[in-house]
Amino acid sequence: MAESADSPPLWRRTVGAIQPCLEQWLDREWGEVSYRMTQVLTGHGCFGEYLCWIKKKCTARCHHCNGNVDSAQHTLAECPAWAGRCRALTHAVGADLSLPAVVVVMVGSEEAWRAFASFCEEVI
Ligand SMILES: [Zn+2]
Repeated sequence: MAESADSPPLWRRTVGAIQPCLEQWLDREWGEVSYRMTQVLTGHGCFGEYLCWIKKKCTARCHHCNGNVDSAQHTLAECPAWAGRCRALTHAVGADLSLPAVVVVMVGSEEAWRAFASFCEEVI
């Protein structure tokens, strides 16, 4: 599906996070990328923002907290419904849950990779 001018720039978030450490991403010796991890990394999946964009939902609001935009980043770092899971994740990857910061830590640490994978499996 081609992005239109009013579509969310989902691919930019993913490329912006992985491109700066692409070599480490490709050369890492751990970590598969699961279906649920792919959803959080790309924003394509069960998020209101994406479902609204593909016209499967009429609002992008989060049905967990009624936040304005249910995006992958909202799920990863902002939604109060996942606060406990976020605390466990920040213990492993640090307080910065922006995708570029998380990916840098993941490609440098198997523990961080596994923590992100667990977060995605539990939350998505
Ligand atoms: Zn929410």
